[in-house]
Amino acid sequence: MSIEIRDLTHIYNAGTPFAQDALKNINLTIEDGEIIAIIGHTGSGKSTLVQHFNGLLRPTKGTVRIDGVDLSQKGVSLRDVRRKVGLVFQYPEHQLFEETVWEDVAFGPRNAGITGEELEDRVRRALKSVDLDEGFADRSPFELSGGEKRRVAIAGVLAMEPSVIVLDEPTAGLDPRSREDLLGQILRLHKERALTVVFVSHNMAEVAKIAKRLVVMENGGIAMEGSPEKIFVDSEKLQGIGLGVPDMTLLMQRLRERGWSLPASVLTIEAAEAAILEALASKETGAKSSGAGKGSSKGVYK
Ligand code: ADP
Ligand code: MG
Repeated sequence: MSIEIRDLTHIYNAGTPFAQDALKNINLTIEDGEIIAIIGHTGSGKSTLVQHFNGLLRPTKGTVRIDGVDLSQKGVSLRDVRRKVGLVFQYPEHQLFEETVWEDVAFGPRNAGITGEELEDRVRRALKSVDLDEGFADRSPFELSGGEKRRVAIAGVLAMEPSVIVLDEPTAGLDPRSREDLLGQILRLHKERALTVVFVSHNMAEVAKIAKRLVVMENGGIAMEGSPEKIFVDSEKLQGIGLGVPDMTLLMQRLRERGWSLPASVLTIEAAEAAILEALASKETGAKSSGAGKGSSKGVYK
């Protein structure tokens, strides 16, 4: 399912003294099956943008098309759209309210008229997708950890079986372990269920880890767009926007400045390790052929 945004402008409280320009002329297409991250610091317009993807906010100007259908057209059912494009809000755990985890996850599909076996199935599958085992079903959402609550909220959206899932800062405020777990679950959903994923974040390292394409927002506009490799090479521009590049990318850039032969766009610790080992190995071969022992370069690595 594709989402096509054309010349989208959004002004909150338009025509009042409190008017606030939140988006200016955004053009963006999200392809079916893609995993894309939207980054930018607070106030840059990320949440406003993604709330247009399922018709929750209406454009002040411009259009939003889902699979070619303009959401502002007469006869378009926003209910259907919201079923297909699932939006997980920032801090979604604030919207948990049922007595049990099971009831909370069942809320959406039940409202959509799903009952019986099918409902059971959906809830079970949704909980499983976020690694919550059956034991969680009868517990109160309020007694869970922060990470678990967030997973329940995500399961509630997954239980609607959307084609696109939009996650607005899903890892914000989580400890590193829960953050890693959640990123793993999101990647798995994308791969196994061919879900289109839109991931909002301001953490460069995690974005680098999961998204194939990044959209960098600044002041209600798109400042940069492309693969993480392409975007992180321009670390100066990113820093100008107030966003850093991942630590590993910076480390690689520094080493390159000192004459190491390393690729320009290393994004993760794993890739950095491989690149450094390779550089060391080629140094080693060079050193060997010039007569030096191999102990010294091993020492550098250890
Ligand atoms: P982000 O998600 O990147 O932090 P937002 O989309 O929340 O950015 O906000 C973009 C701009 O719109 C900010 O200037 C913010 O203050 C303003 N804004 C957001 N929500 C509202 C609202 N409900 N009413 C008025 N202004 C808003
Ligand atoms: Mg936001």
